[in-house]
Amino acid sequence: MDLGIRGKLALVTGASQGIGREVALTLAQEGARVLAVARSQDKLKELVTEIEQIGGEAYALPADLGKPGTVEGVLREAAKAGTVEIFLGNTGGPKPMQAQEMGAEEVLEAARSLLFPMLELTRGLLPGMQEARFGRILYITSLAVKEPIENLALSNTVRSGLTGYAKTLAREVAPFGITVNTLGPGYTRTERVEEVFQFRAQQQGIPVEEAYHQQAQQIPVGRLGTPKEIADVAVFMLSANASYLTGQTLVVDGGFTRGLL
Ligand code: NAD
Repeated sequence: MDLGIRGKLALVTGASQGIGREVALTLAQEGARVLAVARSQDKLKELVTEIEQIGGEAYALPADLGKPGTVEGVLREAAKAGTVEIFLGNTGGPKPMQAQEMGAEEVLEAARSLLFPMLELTRGLLPGMQEARFGRILYITSLAVKEPIENLALSNTVRSGLTGYAKTLAREVAPFGITVNTLGPGYTRTERVEEVFQFRAQQQGIPVEEAYHQQAQQIPVGRLGTPKEIADVAVFMLSANASYLTGQTLVVDGGFTRGLL
């Protein structure tokens, strides 16, 4: 299937590893030009090289989106490459915490990385998308927006806020050919998750594969997802073909969540 995004400019944040990196690669394979944002310049350079090796076009924009004032710089650099018509908003998860431990400061810190840069980048990109009469915006959230996860109160709270924002924005910008959606990954084997399971295994005194096996037993598909399985869905949601899909949250979790909708 031709996804209709050849030559379009895509901004992908959190692109140095995991799901964001895989989305960046897949977009490039589909012919999009990729602006890759993350904190690690070295990892971004590796990604750019990999994309160039497959005949694609990509640029590294190293930035810490959690730091105030960073977004303006990213938008300025992005504008040099043209009009961004595709935006994948993604950063890392906040620290674990119970709801009763959570105060305003903790929420603010999580929002600085997970919510505020998404809002600010979106606001900066919307005028160009409106003029182009085309835009695809997708935020990576978590299965936690459907079924909040114990001890991840910050994620459950802030990502729900982003989901509410996306739903509201989707209706506002739909007349301009701009779609806004969110994708909640389920358990996906990325570098970050590898660390989490290493820690779990160590704590329980079991091999890491056993820790994965225990988790996999909770998932109807019988295993964790791969970044590629998430990226393929994300890239479809970011494609020209997904023109009637907006204001939606798609949880890609191998059947893990039990909610009806
Ligand atoms: P990851 O931690 O491996 O990758 C996150 C990416 O975001 C990295 O490229 C990192 O450099 C970048 N990043 C983090 N903070 C940043 C900042 N302040 N500025 C710029 N870049 C920043 O995460 P992942 O496993 O690929 O997951 C992606 C998102 O999906 C995360 O928010 C994660 O919490 C969420 N999620 C993941 C899973 C999973 O099982 N992997 C499940 C549910 C939700």
